[in-house]
Amino acid sequence: MTGPAIAPAGSGASERYEAVIGIEIHCQLKTASKMFCGCSTEIDGAAPNSHCCPVCLGLPGVLPTINKTAVEYVIATGFAIEATVAATTRWDRKNYFYPDLPKGYQISQYQLPLAANGRLTFDTSAGRFTVRVRRAHLEEDTGRLIHDELDGRRVSLIDFNRSGMPLMEIVTEPDIRTAEQARRYAEELRLLMRTIGASDAEMENGQMRVEANVSIRPRGREAFGTRVEVKNMNSMRAVERAISFEIERQAAEIDAGGTIRMETRGWEDGSQSTYHMRPKEEENDYRYFPEPDLPPLLTTPEWLAEIRARLPELPAARRARYRDAFGLSAYDAGVLVNDAAATALFEGALAAGRGVPVKLLANWVTGEYMRLAKEDARGGSADPAELAALVKLVADGAISGTNAKEVLADHFSSGRPVASIVESGGFRQISDAGALRAVIDEVLAANPAAVADYRSGRAAAVAFLVGQVMKATRGQANAAMVQTFLRERLDNVE
Ligand SMILES: [Zn+2]
Repeated sequence: MTGPAIAPAGSGASERYEAVIGIEIHCQLKTASKMFCGCSTEIDGAAPNSHCCPVCLGLPGVLPTINKTAVEYVIATGFAIEATVAATTRWDRKNYFYPDLPKGYQISQYQLPLAANGRLTFDTSAGRFTVRVRRAHLEEDTGRLIHDELDGRRVSLIDFNRSGMPLMEIVTEPDIRTAEQARRYAEELRLLMRTIGASDAEMENGQMRVEANVSIRPRGREAFGTRVEVKNMNSMRAVERAISFEIERQAAEIDAGGTIRMETRGWEDGSQSTYHMRPKEEENDYRYFPEPDLPPLLTTPEWLAEIRARLPELPAARRARYRDAFGLSAYDAGVLVNDAAATALFEGALAAGRGVPVKLLANWVTGEYMRLAKEDARGGSADPAELAALVKLVADGAISGTNAKEVLADHFSSGRPVASIVESGGFRQISDAGALRAVIDEVLAANPAAVADYRSGRAAAVAFLVGQVMKATRGQANAAMVQTFLRERLDNVE
């Protein structure tokens, strides 16, 4: 192994250094009420401090009650990542002072997390990769500070609507070695959250918050380098870019003879770089102790069995099924399963359209549908039964692939039924042999020069004649049949 001192000039940081990355993710759980009180979790767009009560404001003398659904989401996640779900768990107080935390402590889980020792496996461009998950536990969110200006003075306001929202924290072991693995891990976890229904996990609005601990070490060395915490990554792309940037920054620092200091850095999309937020000289001492207002939580085998039985088909199993039962390629199965809306459309179309060819359907979902969905800004959608009907028309040769794209685009934006778009748009393909032969005869008679060209060995003349037939039928002729019949006529007529 080469050390930094003898590295060839100009080599990338990744050749000389190995990155060691651990990820912490907070997911806002999709419950109707908050973690320890009855306040609604519908806080998006609500007036500040309109969704609070004495419990989530931390007033003296109130008692928390546990949200059972939140607990079940974490247990379900635990099963989904093959973790050990605790038979007994308990709540701890994490004590610290901050204005957005009126109680002076956050109720969390410290020594006995609900789930521990799990793993998550996913595909990357360099192959399959498994990350060990150290723990998944429940906690409550804090309020939100808003820094603003009021009557010419700078003020900090507090909105307690978020206070007490249920959060699941999921922490990996430092197994991740590249920025791409980190992004793929976060994407796979997001997909898992959405599949289970535990969280919508939208990064843009804070339902999923990803933090990365990043350090580097010369390749071949065991000891970890000094780690830097990276925050404020509000998209999957930002996760990958921020970690890449951080690896390069640390390598450049060490190469220049400097040292890495423990700190928290924030990602800034504008400059595509991380910046210093605050030093992190030592681990904070939160003086955890068991929450006296809540009893330990016992998870009975019956309850766990019930939660396990309710688990939907998980992404890994679904990809395998698409490959094995439907013959989809690993790539297509991945593209389809990684997009929850595409998966729902595919499954719905399969259920609605008996006998629809599965591979062709998969191609239409991963191709045209996903392209439309990506370009769409006005909330278009495809109905599963309508898509199944369209794919059947294509499979039966009743409509050409080119016209089917137009029909799908129309249906996607207008919602009109496929059958009426096909009829009113004249999209139905002419596959009647007699009708096509009649048109071909007319075209051949009208283009003697092209026919002569073909017979003198210019095979390319066929393309011109096919084009003439398509023109004569306003694009409705079955192109494959036109090719066949044209060649028959050209090769057999004396
Ligand atoms: Zn409340």
